[in-house]
Amino acid sequence: MIQKNEHYDVVVCGGGLAGFCAGVAAARQGAKACIVQDRPVFGGNSSSEIRVTPHGAAAFHAYARETGILSELLIEERARNHEEILENGWTNSVWDMVMYDMAMSTPNLTFHLNTSIQQVVIDANKHIQSVIGRIANSETELTISGSMFIDCTGDGIVADLAGCEWRMGTESREEFNEPHAPLQASQDTMGNSIHFKAKDMGRQVPFKAPDWAVKYEDASFFYKQGRTPNDVRGGYWWLEIGVPWHTIYDSEDIRHELTCHTLGVWDWIKNRDPETMELAANYAIDWIGQVPGKRESRRIIGDYFMTEHDILNRKVFEDEIAFGGWFIDLHTPGGLLAPTSEPNSAAGYQGDYNVKSYCGPYGVPLGICIAKDVNNLMMAGRNVSVTHAALGTVRVMGTTALMGQAVGTAAGLAVSKNVPIRTISNHHIRELKQTLIKDGCFLPNNRNEDEYDLARSARLSASSEAVVHGVGPESRDAETPLLKRWWDTAPKKLELHVVKKPEVQLLTKLGQWIAMGTSELRQVAVCLTNTSDQVQVVRSSLVPVNDIWDYRVNTGTVLAEAELLVAPGEAQWIEWEVQLTDLKPNSYIRLDLSSNEHVIWHRAGGIEPGQTSAWDMGNGQMRGVKYALSYRVEPAQPSYGAVNAISGVTRPHQSTNLWKSDPQQPLSQWLQLEWEEAVTIREVHLTFPGQLLTEYHYYPPFYKDPQCPRVYTIQAWREESWEDLVHIKDNYQRQMKHSLSEEVKTAKLRIVVHATNGDPSAAIYEVRCYS
Ligand SMILES: Cc1cc2nc3c(=O)[nH]c(=O)nc-3n(C[C@H](O)[C@H](O)[C@H](O)COP(=O)(O)OP(=O)(O)OC[C@H]3O[C@@H](n4cnc5c(N)ncnc54)[C@H](O)[C@@H]3O)c2cc1C
Repeated sequence: MIQKNEHYDVVVCGGGLAGFCAGVAAARQGAKACIVQDRPVFGGNSSSEIRVTPHGAAAFHAYARETGILSELLIEERARNHEEILENGWTNSVWDMVMYDMAMSTPNLTFHLNTSIQQVVIDANKHIQSVIGRIANSETELTISGSMFIDCTGDGIVADLAGCEWRMGTESREEFNEPHAPLQASQDTMGNSIHFKAKDMGRQVPFKAPDWAVKYEDASFFYKQGRTPNDVRGGYWWLEIGVPWHTIYDSEDIRHELTCHTLGVWDWIKNRDPETMELAANYAIDWIGQVPGKRESRRIIGDYFMTEHDILNRKVFEDEIAFGGWFIDLHTPGGLLAPTSEPNSAAGYQGDYNVKSYCGPYGVPLGICIAKDVNNLMMAGRNVSVTHAALGTVRVMGTTALMGQAVGTAAGLAVSKNVPIRTISNHHIRELKQTLIKDGCFLPNNRNEDEYDLARSARLSASSEAVVHGVGPESRDAETPLLKRWWDTAPKKLELHVVKKPEVQLLTKLGQWIAMGTSELRQVAVCLTNTSDQVQVVRSSLVPVNDIWDYRVNTGTVLAEAELLVAPGEAQWIEWEVQLTDLKPNSYIRLDLSSNEHVIWHRAGGIEPGQTSAWDMGNGQMRGVKYALSYRVEPAQPSYGAVNAISGVTRPHQSTNLWKSDPQQPLSQWLQLEWEEAVTIREVHLTFPGQLLTEYHYYPPFYKDPQCPRVYTIQAWREESWEDLVHIKDNYQRQMKHSLSEEVKTAKLRIVVHATNGDPSAAIYEVRCYS
C-alpha cells in the first residue's frame, strides 16, 4: 500500500449528480476543488451503471425544468446521444462521457474515481481536516485535506464518520403532523433497486430462468399492486427491496435478492403472464444492473430541518437556493416483499393520494445543506436535513443537482472570502442567490438584481416582436411534434389515465394560461365540440393567477364570468365578449371552463411559450399539463416584448419573460440595448430557450432545441456603424457567457440572431452586460 497526500480548497465526497454539480460549481467560483467518487463513472444513480433517469419538477410542471449545470449536461447529452432515453434502464455511456468531458474541461477541478472514502480526520474545534480514501486496484491510500468538505455520498458517510447527528427511518405523525407520516415512527426506509433493459431481437427468443430465480405466479401481485409491466423493454422502478434488510449494511444481500427477483419477474413476463407473453416473445434481456441504486439511508441534521409542511405550503425561505417539484413519492417499505409497491401507483395515480402528494414548485433552503455539528461540512443530495416525508420529493436528481450546484457555489464563495460557511449563510446569502441566478439557476422567489449588470439600465428594442392571437387545433410549434413519451413507443399500447387525445373532454374544470401584454382584453374564444344533440351550457371565467404554477382552483378574484352556449356540432369557435380594460400587463390570467361531459375543449396543436393548461384534480387544486387548449384573444397580445430580456427571470413564471421575434418576419432579427451614455463592456451573457418545457428524456436523439439561436452575432455601435464583437455558429446551449477579447465602449449593443435550430422566431430570455 502506498500513501499519497493532496490538498484542496473544497473536497466533494461522492460524485453522483449532487456531488458532480457541487465540484464543478466550486471550481467555477475559482476554488481548487476535488470530487472523490467510489465508482468508475460519475453520476451515481443516474450513471450507466445504475440507469435511473434524472427526474425533477418538469415532470409535473410545464417550464419547470432545472437549469444551471444540470441543464448544460442534459442539453449536451441530448445533442450527442444517438439513443432515445425513455425511462429507468435506458441510460447509456454517452451520459457518463458527457460528465467526464465537463469534469476534464473545468479549470480548477480534479477528481479521483474508484476511490472510496473510509476515514475522516476531525479536530477538537469540529473542523474536518481530511478524509482518507482507498483507490481500488492501485493499492493506494489517499489523504485529502481541505478547507471545506461537502458530503454527497448519499449515505452521509462523511458526516457519520465526523460524528454528526443523523436520522434514518420514518418520523411519526405525532412529531410534525405531516400528512404522509405514518402514526408510528419506525426504522423503515425506501429500498434499493436494480434495473434491466430488454431488446427486440426481431425473432422469437427463449428465456430460461435459473433455478435460484424467484418464481412468480400471481398476476394480481403485479396488476393490482402498482407493479404493472407496462413496457416489456424495462423501466421498472418497483424492482425494489429494502426492509427487513438495512439499505447500507445489507446492500450486497439486497443486490443478490434483487437479482433473483428481477430474473423471476422477467421469467413471469416472458413465459407466464398472459398480458405480456406474446409482446415479450422477441425480447431478450440486454442489460441487467448489478450496482443497486439507493433511495434512502441517513439524513444528516442541518441548520434547518425541512418538513412536508414547508413543501406543501411552498414556504418562502430567505436562504432559498434551489427548487423542487416532484411529487411526494414514498415507496412502500419492503418493495417487492411488501403487499403494494407505492400507494400512488397502486391507486393508478388517481384519487386522494394522488392529490395529497402533488406538490411544488417549492423553494429549498441552504439551511438543510449545512451540517449542524461540524463547522466546515455541507451536504447535498438525498442525505440532506429533511424528514422522511419531505425526502419523498427532494430526493429526485433534478433537485439534488440544484442543491449540489448551490453548495458548491456557497463553498467557493466561502473560500474566496476566506470565511466559514455560516458567514455565507448569515451575511452573504443575497450574493449567493444572485450568483446562482447569474449562473443559470432559477429561484422561484428571487430574480436578477445584480447591480453590476449594465443591461438592467438599458432601453430595449427589437427588429420585431411576436404577438399572440391564440392557438387552435391547427397550430404547430417546432418543439411539440418532437416530444416522445415512453408510452408512445411501448410495444403495448396502453390505456393510461393520461389524456392522449387531441381533444380534451370537460370531465373536470380545465384552465388555460393567457399571457397578457396589455391591459385590454375585449374578447376570448374557445374551440369546443358538443357531442350531444342538445345545446350545452359551459360556465367560463377569467381569473388572475400569480404565476404559471398557481394551481388554486379558486384564486379569490374573478375578472369576468359567463355562460357559453354550445350548439351540437364539432370544433366550433365560441366567442365571449369580456371587455376588460384594466388588466395588469406582463402578467398571466387563466381562462377556466367548468365541467360538462358532453363538451370537448380542443387541445391546441402547438404551444405559445409559457402558455399551457391545467385540470382540476380535486381538493381545490389544479394539476398542470404540458400542452395548450385552443383559445383566441382579441386584441392580440404583445406578450414577447424586447423589454422581457431584462425582466430578471429566465423562464416563463409571472410573465413569459421572453423576447421573441415575429415569426412572419424572416431571420436575421435583432434585440438592441441602448444606454443614455456609453458604457464599457467586457462580458455579455445570453440566456436562450433550452428545453424548459419538460424533462430531457422526452426529447429525441441528437436533439437541439428548435427555439435556441444557432447562429448569432453580438455587435456594438462604434463610429457610426455596427461592429461585430462575437460571431457564434452551431450553438444549442441555453446559457452562453462571452468574454470580449477587449473591452468595448458603446451606447448601443445588438444581439443579431441569424438562424435558430428550427424555429422561425429569434428568442432570448436574458441579456446581461458587465464591465
Ligand atoms: C431505483 C431508483 C429509482 C429512482 N427513480 C428516480 C427517478 O426516476 N428520477 C430521479 O431523479 N430520482 C430517482 N430516484 C432517486 C435518486 O436516484 C436518488 O435520490 C439520487 O441518486 C440521490 O442523489 P445523490 O447524488 O444524493 O446520490 P447518488 O446518486 O447515490 O450519488 C452518491 C454517490 O456517492 C458515491 N459514494 C458513496 N459512498 C462513497 C464513499 N465512501 N466514497 C466515495 N464515494 C461514495 C456513490 O457511489 C454515488 O456515486 C430513484 C432512486 C432509485 C434507487
